Amino acid sequence: MSLHKDLIDRDRKVTFHASTHLRDFAQGDAPGRVITGGKGIHIRDKDGREFIDGFAGLYCVNIGYGRTEVAEAIYQQALELSYYHTYVGHANEPQIALSERILELAGPGMSKVYYGLGGSDANETQLKIVRYYNNVLGRPQKKKVIARSRGYHGSGIASGSLTGLKAFHDHFDLPIETIRHTEAPFYYQRAAEQQGMSERDFSAYCAEKLEAMILAEGPETVAAFIGEPVLGTGGIVPPPEGYWEAIQAVLAKYDVLLIADEVVCGFGRIGADFGSHYYGIQPDLITVAKGLTSAYQPLSGVIVGDRVWQVLEQGTGEYGPIGHGWTYSGHALGCAAALANLAIIEREGLTANAAETGAYLQQQMQAAFGDHPLVGDVRGVGMLAAVEFAADPARRQAFDPALKVGPRIAAAALEQNLIARAMPQGDILGFAPPLVATRAEVDEIVARTRRAVDQVADELVRSGEAQLA
Ligand SMILES: *Cc1c(COP(=O)(O)O)cnc(C)c1O
Repeated sequence: MSLHKDLIDRDRKVTFHASTHLRDFAQGDAPGRVITGGKGIHIRDKDGREFIDGFAGLYCVNIGYGRTEVAEAIYQQALELSYYHTYVGHANEPQIALSERILELAGPGMSKVYYGLGGSDANETQLKIVRYYNNVLGRPQKKKVIARSRGYHGSGIASGSLTGLKAFHDHFDLPIETIRHTEAPFYYQRAAEQQGMSERDFSAYCAEKLEAMILAEGPETVAAFIGEPVLGTGGIVPPPEGYWEAIQAVLAKYDVLLIADEVVCGFGRIGADFGSHYYGIQPDLITVAKGLTSAYQPLSGVIVGDRVWQVLEQGTGEYGPIGHGWTYSGHALGCAAALANLAIIEREGLTANAAETGAYLQQQMQAAFGDHPLVGDVRGVGMLAAVEFAADPARRQAFDPALKVGPRIAAAALEQNLIARAMPQGDILGFAPPLVATRAEVDEIVARTRRAVDQVADELVRSGEAQLA
């Protein structure tokens, strides 16, 4: 029980919390926690308890907590100008410098940056761009967007439709009409290594499924494909070998735009500036958020490639100024925070650290869990990792969801003062520590996880809920 029950009880009365069991929380049957501070990879709650944040908030606090340099940059900008809108050609200085920096990092072929506040609204912008693009090109029927099962692209009406997770659709009447979902590139779960399918075979199979969907819908109706370079919230799943190459060949064949949702991968998380660079993806449009500011301010961006930009210019030539704009687009405080964040990433070599210490994280996770009787799969890339639990690892057979093995292990980790995330679909424990994590901190994350997994394995055996090999 928190020492600050009074504070939490006040909260129960007044706040509608994200992704929360609303009734249990309101009635006091689900715990609350008030977070008050943090430093490096650690956060602290109001009771003074300290945790390792093995998930960097929601994979976003890449430079770690408590970086006063970013606070200072926000403060200095606020003294000068917190806000003016960026409609009809108005600009502010941090926004100009940030666009230059983002385009420099994104590399050749990218033309302009449009700003929002979060990944969901950025993907709304993507969908509007895709529609406008095909209207300008005189193809009003080419409007459908194909996303993937287990993809995560936000939780609005349109962005939540792109998301391929059941909990985000059910009882909201989603997905909307023009969105489709194709096979998730989830080799461990879906492919059938049992049937002798190699990773490359499975990639080819995913590409065939995509092509069959495009043909069934009619290529003249399919406008775009959206995917995360590495599936994130859907289970932290790096693509199988050859996946992006095979997918891009299909998209090129049917003139389908590619949107890379880099909200998690962008700005260093997997050891490259962008996931697209790492996997050889050539997107037409890129979505960024999270690591752009390390969450010191809300900010997202849509990076528009040359090919699409030409058409947007052509469109405004025909129809007048574009009918799209958020009040806070290009917010000066967000842009100032992003510039300070990107400067830290560069100066401290955090992208390289994500590659190096990330490789160590992968290695140590493999060593700790590769042969564990509760574990079916250990996977990841850079500073993104997952452990997937299985009732029968050899046969890749999942636990009965009612046993809640994933959430129980996350709860046991929390008892060890480690935050690791029970991913929403399947018994998967996810890790995405701040990119400043050291090898010693990785060792601590792995050791605490090991204790949590062993504890739950014991409970399962002792209660007779599971028999482990
Ligand atoms: C978090 C996330 C989003 C949504 O971002 P919000 O800021 O929560 O709206 C979109 N895409 C991906 C890949 C994400 O991980």
